[in-house]
Amino acid sequence: MSDFDYDLFVIGGGSGGVRAARVAAQGGAKVALAEESRYGGTCVIRGCVPKKLMVFASEYPGAIENARAYGWGAEAGDFDWPAFRTKLHGELDRLEQVYRNLLSASGVETFDSRASLADPHTVELSSGARKTARHILVATGGRPVKPALPGAEHGLVSDDIFHLESLPKSILIVGGGYIACEFACILNGLGVEVTQYYRGAQILRGFDEEARGLISEEMIRNGIKLHLGTNILEMAPAGSDHGSQSPAGAGSATMGTPAGEATTLPRSAAERGSTGGPLRVKATNGTEATFDKVFFATGRAPNTADMGLEAAGVTLGRHGQIVVDDYSQTSVPSIYAIGDVTDRVNLTPVAIREGMAFVETVFNANPTPVDHALIPTAVFTQPEMGTIGLSEEEARDREPVEIYCTSFRPMQTAFAGRPDRVLMKLVVSVETRKVLGCHIVAPGAGEMIQLAGVAVKMGATKEDFDRTVAVHPTMSEEIVTMREPTRTA
Ligand code: FAD
Ligand code: NDP
Repeated sequence: MSDFDYDLFVIGGGSGGVRAARVAAQGGAKVALAEESRYGGTCVIRGCVPKKLMVFASEYPGAIENARAYGWGAEAGDFDWPAFRTKLHGELDRLEQVYRNLLSASGVETFDSRASLADPHTVELSSGARKTARHILVATGGRPVKPALPGAEHGLVSDDIFHLESLPKSILIVGGGYIACEFACILNGLGVEVTQYYRGAQILRGFDEEARGLISEEMIRNGIKLHLGTNILEMAPAGSDHGSQSPAGAGSATMGTPAGEATTLPRSAAERGSTGGPLRVKATNGTEATFDKVFFATGRAPNTADMGLEAAGVTLGRHGQIVVDDYSQTSVPSIYAIGDVTDRVNLTPVAIREGMAFVETVFNANPTPVDHALIPTAVFTQPEMGTIGLSEEEARDREPVEIYCTSFRPMQTAFAGRPDRVLMKLVVSVETRKVLGCHIVAPGAGEMIQLAGVAVKMGATKEDFDRTVAVHPTMSEEIVTMREPTRTA
């Protein structure tokens, strides 16, 4: 007989938490899970899934333009956002139910409640009820942050975009990461006039320079007004005294925060989003402009506040993330953490992997570290980027490399008379001949990189790629037909 109510208590019903709870319960453990909002978490409710459905919606105008060039009498007409949004939320409701069903079918007891730690073996629910567990898994994910600048409380974050009453005529997107670039393309495709401010010299910092350069060129060519080296100084409702602090009040995102420090939004504020009319924005480049909406895609912070973590002895890092070892164990032996709350690699499949490795380690007596090397990923811009491994810049800092790179107009859009370009690139070690990095910018690049990723993860050499016969006619055949290095570095 166990001294605890449960073998495992999971806090957070997102990608990582649900998977770990299910797999542990299927293996015979007595498991409970608390979710304070909606099952499925960020990915299903306010991330990957609704985002990808919006990507699909936004691609139709381009597809219809192509169709016309191929002889079809096709017209795009107007986009019915309310109809799409209703259908979108219906789909998210269905998926949330799927997640609930998966948990109950696996025998996981669920609590629709916020949970915090009372001690290393005790979870407290918002009702005040306490539950004990041999192991506690924190999988509480993250949330959007806005910069602390005057008027930022009038801006939206990614959570809000899926709930807009109507699409704005114009929007300013701030940031240059995954979310900023993906939504710049989505909203541009849906007919919104998109301006994007990014504080750095080029969007998508950390990715291969040539790949991000092409994406930025294509985004600009598609009509996005991208301003590099630019940020907001201050913003206010148009018509109000510019430069004055925005009205004080409960829910203000930046009240009481020293200038320059990012502020984590209270969840209610994030969900409520901004209301009201156009916003006047003063930028660091000396310009002033008015936008219907301003959308901050300026990063995310781990959900670790007010959870009793530090009191229980759990060490937090500089950004509030839970510090864990290779087995996702925290500084308190009975408490583990996985997913975005640990701020390792913040992607859904990684949170799931970490959840599976946790169960393997703790419940199957098979210590399994999570392998964070060579993770393929896609940025769903238009065109998409699929990437795995080292960028040219990272690789050449480590060892001599050969670069194989080609950029061309793909058959489908070239025939339609469009100037779209794609890019296929391999970064190869001179010494071992291994492909250290593969970068694809093209429609469908996410699909392509999943498969190229298998080869790169297996340690394929350039010669292995060369030995593979091309699939013709495709864009990705170039990946196996580049014979001469473009350059060495
Ligand atoms: P989450 O999915 O965030 O789940 C955490 C859950 O914990 C939430 O449901 C939350 O309500 C709950 N919770 C928090 N605190 C408590 C508490 N105290 N008590 C009870 N419950 C609590 N990744 C990809 O791989 N591909 C993509 O295309 C992609 N697109 C994205 C698009 C957007 C707009 C965003 C924001 C993210 C995207 N991501 C994408 C990232 C991906 O969504 C996350 O990496 C993933 O959801 C992390 O899973 P998780 O289990 O760690 O946390
Ligand atoms: P990112 O960290 O990718 O990007 C944040 C951006 O905001 C960066 O460009 C950053 O600039 C900028 N920024 C940060 N602070 C400020 C500030 N004070 N003022 C102006 N700009 C600022 O975060 P995202 O929110 O885009 O996405 C979070 C994570 O979610 C991603 O890293 C990814 O792991 C995951 N995700 C995955 C997706 C996918 O798989 N397709 C899609 C969406 C999200 P700088 O570069 O200079 O630091």
